Amino acid sequence: MKCSRCSREAVVTQPYSGLSLCELHAAADIAAKAKKEIRHRGGFPSGSKLFVEEDRTFRSFALRIFLADMLSARTDLLFVKDPKDADVILEPSTLDDTALLVLESVCAGTQDRLVDSGKGRIAPFSVIPTGEVFWYAQRHGYKGSKPKIGGNTAEFLAGFTAEHPGTRYALKNIRDALKLEDK
Ligand SMILES: [Zn+2]
Repeated sequence: MKCSRCSREAVVTQPYSGLSLCELHAAADIAAKAKKEIRHRGGFPSGSKLFVEEDRTFRSFALRIFLADMLSARTDLLFVKDPKDADVILEPSTLDDTALLVLESVCAGTQDRLVDSGKGRIAPFSVIPTGEVFWYAQRHGYKGSKPKIGGNTAEFLAGFTAEHPGTRYALKNIRDALKLEDK
């Protein structure tokens, strides 16, 4: 299959967008979406101290590579070793993780993790499907194993998404629309 944006061979297909993308255009698409999510969350003001959460999987591997690339010219930012010292904590969660958290919270009737406090936490890959984050990590030399689907809710979500490709984005959008009320 050919890339939807050029004549190269496609390596990533996106059922939710109808696009097939070559290596270059898939990487550009991931970077553009992740940067947009960072901007929507207030970005990194000059002088910000950043902490990158580590989950020992392809997620944080990919996140570090993405940030190093994106921020290579930003000498005004500081990476810190303790989340307590950080202005912004960067989470490695993907779109699948975020959608699952929303669905699980709704099913369990719990609000504490469903409604995000919005302050000081950004998950740049929360707009990128796990499969694409894994592809991005592998492209940059990640050798670990494939992501596994675990649990009833995750299996249900995977099955439902196969029929309705926009489902995970819909769940993420609902979470974004919910804000904690300041009382
Ligand atoms: Zn292309």
